[in-house]
Amino acid sequence: MTEKILCKKCGFLLYWGEAIKERLFFRLSEEMVLHRYGDKCPTCGSPLSKEDVNIIIEN
Ligand SMILES: [Zn+2]
Repeated sequence: MTEKILCKKCGFLLYWGEAIKERLFFRLSEEMVLHRYGDKCPTCGSPLSKEDVNIIIEN
């Protein structure tokens, strides 16, 4: 499965890759991805939390 995390405001792609909950070797969480951006969208500057992003998990 693949996972995408997009800013709800501007649609900026924050993460694309292996579904985070399925990752075995490199532990990661959605919060850690957002924290890498300083919890702020690099494009529109809106604060990022799990409620401010669209998380799309696809097979
Ligand atoms: Zn944004």
